[in-house]
Amino acid sequence: MPVKTILNIDKHEKLLKTPSEPVKKINKEVKALIKDIKDTMADPSIPALGLAAPQIGVLKRVFGIYLGFYDREEDDETELEPTIFINAEVLEQSEETEVDREACLSIPGMAGDVTRQLKLKVRFMDEHGNMITRELENEDARAFQHELDHVNGIVFLQRLKSLDDLYVITRDKRGKLVEVPYKQVVEQANASTEKSKVVPTVRKEKEADN
Ligand SMILES: [Zn+2]
Repeated sequence: MPVKTILNIDKHEKLLKTPSEPVKKINKEVKALIKDIKDTMADPSIPALGLAAPQIGVLKRVFGIYLGFYDREEDDETELEPTIFINAEVLEQSEETEVDREACLSIPGMAGDVTRQLKLKVRFMDEHGNMITRELENEDARAFQHELDHVNGIVFLQRLKSLDDLYVITRDKRGKLVEVPYKQVVEQANASTEKSKVVPTVRKEKEADN
């Protein structure tokens, strides 16, 4: 199966905000979907930690996550294999939460600080049809909540407490990727517009006075 195009919120907001249908049984169609999710996540040009079916245009409750991704040693060369979650649900969650930066393949160029539960006990069907109960914590729990949101028709932007928590991913003068507060970007854009239209005239008059 081919690598799929990841739907962007700019063009596909309605679909990405539509809740997905549960999977009734793992038939040929669902197997193909799982393969598509895996192939798309494995594409080296796509920096995926997780990917949900709606992001490739399929409204089914299926998503994949590279569990333990952040615990891997840098020289670990074993191939990454995503865990596939079908009809996943949260059984228990810790009261303890954590705020951390999140990004989404469907919302390129943006990142945000999102509060998530630190630990979860979850239940899901795996790709072979087995019911699995599993505990997740830290980044794995965060990724699970992000992907579960996707199959519920929610994107991380809806989880932000305010625009103060939103960041624009851009390149600095040296070409390094940096995250700049969204409000700062907006202020700078406004300021540069004002500068070109208003400020030079005022400054000229002041300078003339001196
Ligand atoms: Zn996402």
